[in-house]
Amino acid sequence: MIFRKKQLSFNDVQNTDIVLENAEILITQKCNFGCQHCLRGEPSNKTIKKEALDAFFNKIFYIGNLSIGGGEISLEPDLIRMITKSLKEGKILGVGRVNLTTNGTSVTDDFVDALRELVDYVKQGENDTTGFEPLLVGCSIDDFHLAEMQKRGITVDDIADNLAKIKKSIPEAYVDFRQECDVDIINTGRARELVGVRKVKPLLDMSVPVFVRPEKNRSYLGGVICMSVDGEIIPINIPFLDERTCSYGNIINEDFISILSKMRTKRVFHPTDLDKEYKKFIKQMSAPKRLWKKYDKEYGYKKNYIFTKSLEDAVESEK
Ligand code: SF4
Repeated sequence: MIFRKKQLSFNDVQNTDIVLENAEILITQKCNFGCQHCLRGEPSNKTIKKEALDAFFNKIFYIGNLSIGGGEISLEPDLIRMITKSLKEGKILGVGRVNLTTNGTSVTDDFVDALRELVDYVKQGENDTTGFEPLLVGCSIDDFHLAEMQKRGITVDDIADNLAKIKKSIPEAYVDFRQECDVDIINTGRARELVGVRKVKPLLDMSVPVFVRPEKNRSYLGGVICMSVDGEIIPINIPFLDERTCSYGNIINEDFISILSKMRTKRVFHPTDLDKEYKKFIKQMSAPKRLWKKYDKEYGYKKNYIFTKSLEDAVESEK
């Protein structure tokens, strides 16, 4: 058996030993869209505190993949800069790569400049993911985002032009559309109303599997360790409103190891087994696909007619 189903002890692990394979930091609860499938629920004006970032980056040795999430992060160039500043000031050794999801509507020059500074930090650090792009930008253009764009008179061409600005300023970035929303919709947040069925587990049972893989005398934590704007360490993909009640602890005033020790853990010895376990976890939380058919009928337009210009075309015309 690869997995040993028992709670792991963190007794021998030091804060400075922690290497996170994946970390997600939610920097803002603001959003200019109101997508019907949004698992975060209703937005608010709350944004991340510097002391939460500082605490996080002082208690971790290295992050393989740092996801920056929201809300809509392109509304917050100053917060991107705050992350870069906190990374530089913190005890953390470095970040392997940065991963962002955006709706692509607010890609200002200021936002692109802030990303450029962050990417420069990533490239200067001790990077163990050589061969990968230092920045991944995914832009969601599924049916739900398209509906929001239509309401506001925004076209996919506009979005492609915006993404091209990132690619032009940061050629080493990987920028792409995410066109489909056909799998793994978490049945939570605003999406609960959309499917009309409440077959969700109680939120407190939705804990993220944490995987500990001893390596080079450090502790690798797989799954995703997620931090809210308030510094709460929380399960991924939960509504803003549930962050406080689902928190494992607050990074600002608690020891990271004691927070991690409250999570459900499994030991894994190979990354592919980690993937399998993660997919199982997502499936448990997802609404059955048949529930989405009704929605597809309401939005009867075809994506192929809307995608009039590819991202590559947009990058070419920006040159
Ligand atoms: S899915 Fe993204 S863009 Fe849509 S409302 Fe939620 S945070 Fe905003």
